[in-house]
Order: sequence, then structure tokens, then C-alpha cells
Amino acid sequence: MDESNKTKLSFDDLSLKDHLLRGVYSYGFENPSKIQHLAIPKIATGKDLIAQAQSGTGKTGAFTISVLQNLKEEQKNTQVLILSPTHELVHQINEVITSLSNYMDVSIMEVIGGTNVYECKKQLEKCPQIIVGTPGRVLDMIQKKCLFTDRIHTIIFDEADEILSYGFKESIYQIVQQIPENTQICLFSATMPEDVIELSDRFMNNPDKILIKKEALTLEGITQFYINIKINEWKFDVLKDLYDTINVSQCIIYINSKNKLMDLYQNLTKENFPVSYIHGELSSQERKDVMENFRSGHSRILLSTDLLSRGIDVQQLSLVINFDLPKSKETYIHRIGRSGRYGRKGVSINLVTDRDISYMKDIETFYETKIEEMPHNIADFLSV
Ligand code: ADP
Ligand code: MG
Repeated sequence: MDESNKTKLSFDDLSLKDHLLRGVYSYGFENPSKIQHLAIPKIATGKDLIAQAQSGTGKTGAFTISVLQNLKEEQKNTQVLILSPTHELVHQINEVITSLSNYMDVSIMEVIGGTNVYECKKQLEKCPQIIVGTPGRVLDMIQKKCLFTDRIHTIIFDEADEILSYGFKESIYQIVQQIPENTQICLFSATMPEDVIELSDRFMNNPDKILIKKEALTLEGITQFYINIKINEWKFDVLKDLYDTINVSQCIIYINSKNKLMDLYQNLTKENFPVSYIHGELSSQERKDVMENFRSGHSRILLSTDLLSRGIDVQQLSLVINFDLPKSKETYIHRIGRSGRYGRKGVSINLVTDRDISYMKDIETFYETKIEEMPHNIADFLSV
């Protein structure tokens, strides 16, 4: 998950049941994402909710944790309906819920098309507490009186825009008409097309709204250069030559591996270049200290692995050096892109060897951008 999407808040602050909290941590979540720390308390109130957030922001975690929190475990009847557009998503949600509820006593069932109807009916007789399904089969089971809706207190529409674009509108409307009037409706969607708004207007009761924007990164305003260094071993000397230039500003130098980073750090400090470094194996306190020193300007040049490429507040950074080109094209924009169209201008310098040239061309094509050979007056670009 995107670093920028994480919050300082802890799951401990969300008033979750102990045995659910345990499941959350053992699933591997450390801190709630934004949508999670906003949506979980709201869903806990029982109010209707519309949450709009792009994919990858942690919506599944948000509603699965909420559903488990609100579930009355001792009541062995169907209480929650989660609807999702595809079988794969239903499986995924089921897996997440099953893991999160590892320390709880919860029954969960998938109700999806293309499976044996007889089996489906038989399993439904046990009145599973949580049903995750696709709209078509769920409606069918409701109409056949196999899925009892009278005790349902929560219904979740995951990927509501997708559900509707798959042509499930009629099914959805009919399902909502079959559930108790006061059922809490929570709608998660990446976008808010007309159909989703209509659905919420028609069926939801004064819903709370959450909108999580994923920060769009752009290379606009970033002047990108490369220096062709022929062979890897010369990069160190080139970096030293650049030192006076880069020392006028705050600079992050990205290196692809921790070991290479430490070598570079040792070589630079041996020659009295004051630099600091950060990578994933430092403790979180150490990382915090390094970042504070850097942000405050105490240290000006920071060596980093890709630990830092996502989510760092680069707005005040004027220079990023790719000591190595990132392994994936996506990482390139995370390292040097800025968020927002009004981000300050910046410069990036890529140290490339002959072997990197074609990959660098790929990056240019991918982002429809230009990476020019570094001119001699590079200092002029940095003194903005
Ligand atoms: P969405 O439904 O918004 O597309 P998901 O819920 O599928 O997003 O989450 C995207 C990825 O982020 C998943 O791999 C999920 O395990 C991970 N993730 C979600 N919440 C957290 C969290 N609090 N901490 C760490 N990883 C998380
Ligand atoms: Mg999702």
C-alpha cells in the first residue's frame, strides 16, 4: 500500500473488540489507512455511509473490520450482506474476513453465480452470519426464500460503481427492497457516476460521506537530466564531482539496494562528505530522527532506498538523484514526481550507464516526458 495513504493513528484507537484487534494485527496490518481510520468509527455508529476512494486505499479492510466489529457473534443468524461485482472479489473479501476473524466465532459464506444451487441452498440453511456474494445469485436466493433477510442489519456495496456498470442495477434495487427498512447501507466506490448517486438517493438515509483523494503525482515542472557514466564503477566519482552543485540544496540520492547504499555512505563519509542515510532496516525511531534532521535542514543530502520513494513530502526538495534507475517504471514517478499541479519546481539527475539507456528511453515513453543530457550550467537550474 502507498505510504501516503498511511496514518499515524493506531488500530488501538478505534475501539475495536479485543479478539478482532488481535486478528487485525496478526493479519499484518500495523496502522489503519486513511479510509480505515475515517470509515470504521462512522460505520460503528450505525449510520449510512458513502465512501469514495480509489483502488488500493484499503476499502476492503475498512468494511470488513467494521462488519466484524458490528457483528453480534452470539446471534447465529444472517446479519450482514456484502455485495461485490465479481467472483474473484468475493473470494478476496472472504479471505480477508476469514483471516481477520481468526480469533472470533463467525460464520461466513460465499454466494456466487456459477456454483451448485442445491449446495448453496443447503449451506444457507445454516444461516451464516456474514454473506459475501454477487448480486445475481444473492437475489435469486432471497427470492427462493433460502436466504433470510429479516435479521440483516448491515449491507455493504463494495465497488458500487463496478457493480452497477456490470449491469446489476435491477438486482441491487430488488435486494435493497427485500431487506429491513432500517438496515445500515454502506457504499464503497472509486467514482461517483450517476447510477451510484441515484442508488444512494433512492435508498440511503442521510448518509455520512467520506472522500479520500489519492494524490496524483506528476512530472510537470521537474527538469530531468541524465549523465551517461559508461560504467558503474565511475558513478562514485561523478557523484563527488556533483557534490558542490548539490550541496546548495536539499537532495535525496536513491540507491537500489541497502548494501550498495551503505558502501556509498562509507565511501562518502571517508572522504568527509557529510551525508545521512535511511533504509528499511533502521528502527522506526531511527527513521524518524533521520527524517527530522533532513526536514529541518540539519542534513542536506540523504541517501535512500525505495523505502522513501513513496509518500515523502518532496515539495521542498529541489533535487533528486537516481544513483541507480529504479527497478520499476512506476517507482520513477514516486521518486521524483510531485503531487499537485502547484508543486514547486525541481530537478532530477539520473546516473546511467550504457546498459541503462534503453530502459531510460522506456521511462521517457511511459511518462511522455523528456530526460535530457545534463548541461554544464546545471547549477543555474538549481538556484531557483
Ligand atoms: P481497495 O479495496 O481500496 O482497492 P484493498 O482493501 O484491496 O484496497 O487494499 C489494498 C492493499 O493494501 C491490500 O494488499 C491490503 O492488504 C493492503 N492494506 C489495506 N489496509 C492496510 C493497512 N492498514 N496496513 C497495511 N496494508 C493494508
Ligand atoms: Mg476493493
